[in-house]
Amino acid sequence: MPKRISVVLSQGQSHNPEKRHLEENLVAALLMEQGVDVTVIPHLYDLPPDGTGMLALQNIGGDMIVLSWLYPRAARWVLDRNHIRGHEGVTLLKGLGEDDEDEDEAEAAAADDDKERVIDTRPTPPRKIYCFDLRAYNDANVYVEEIRRIVRENATPLVQLTGWLGGSPKNGESLQRFIEPKNDAYVGAPPKPAEPEGNGEDSQAHHAPQVVRIEENAGRRWYPVIDYSRCTNCMECIDFCLFGVYGVDGVETILVEQPDNCRKGCPACSRVCPENAIIFPQHKTPAIAGAPAEVGGMKIDLSVLFGAPETKESAVDAAVRERDEQLLLAGRSAVGAAVGIARRQASRAPEPRDELDDLLDKLDALDL
Ligand code: SF4
Ligand code: SF4
Repeated sequence: MPKRISVVLSQGQSHNPEKRHLEENLVAALLMEQGVDVTVIPHLYDLPPDGTGMLALQNIGGDMIVLSWLYPRAARWVLDRNHIRGHEGVTLLKGLGEDDEDEDEAEAAAADDDKERVIDTRPTPPRKIYCFDLRAYNDANVYVEEIRRIVRENATPLVQLTGWLGGSPKNGESLQRFIEPKNDAYVGAPPKPAEPEGNGEDSQAHHAPQVVRIEENAGRRWYPVIDYSRCTNCMECIDFCLFGVYGVDGVETILVEQPDNCRKGCPACSRVCPENAIIFPQHKTPAIAGAPAEVGGMKIDLSVLFGAPETKESAVDAAVRERDEQLLLAGRSAVGAAVGIARRQASRAPEPRDELDDLLDKLDALDL
């Protein structure tokens, strides 16, 4: 019998009635489901790292399903930045821009090189985190059906969790929370735990569904999110950013240290990252916002998509211009390409037009 699973619903930033309608339909439908607990939070990306919403997510133990108005990749790495980690749960639902099994093949191809990625160097707790993009379907039943499938098919044997001792600065505490999940991060009185009807898993899986709503005044934020499954820790982003956003942790791994130093609306460093590992989840360009590396069944060179199609600039030219604009807005001097331009990007010679250019023209026409 499956154990309970936590479903997190991240609300949209705006009060768009269609979005609210889908969100409320989802909550109403999930209230009827056995085996799930529901937590409703403000927009995941906007949550302050030490606020009530993020603390509530950190206190969730076991498998987790996150429904948000973000690309799943973006949602996953926002969680990771806040020490909410786990193995990527496989969903049967297609996301925006995903195309059948080609996505898996593309991801496998991306991973099939000899570069060491940051994700290879650190432990991952034995839990699964599933991320769904609410923009993909406007029918709540589609998500509920998939959640039912996950609840049926997945359980996280607690015994496995005792083997995990890393990945969070609060290791001992985190482990204990995985073993004995508790929701104690709420303002005011915490929700009353359901009374067990017995001692076995059946009672755990069948007590009444809970819905916890986290009310938090989270203003809109803008900051980069690193995809550590791509990042090679090359440090080119820290050299490029002149606003002190990036730093390193105790083992010299790149991190977004001062996210709110980032200049609102500017995605410059994402354009110069050699691994296309930097995500700005709210950017209008899908590749920068965390879209899959797959369009129409073809794996494409994302680095080309990181240019600025509206100005026909290359990725590096656009990044230099955007950084200079932000320096001037901040009352500082422009530096052009003289500072922190990635070695790989700077040495790249102009290439003759080829089939990829033709493909990109077609993608432009699709308004991706
Ligand atoms: S530039 Fe990209 S790959 Fe290099 S450290 Fe920064 S995020 Fe990682
Ligand atoms: S977008 Fe600009 S300010 Fe923000 S992290 Fe990147 S380089 Fe720094």
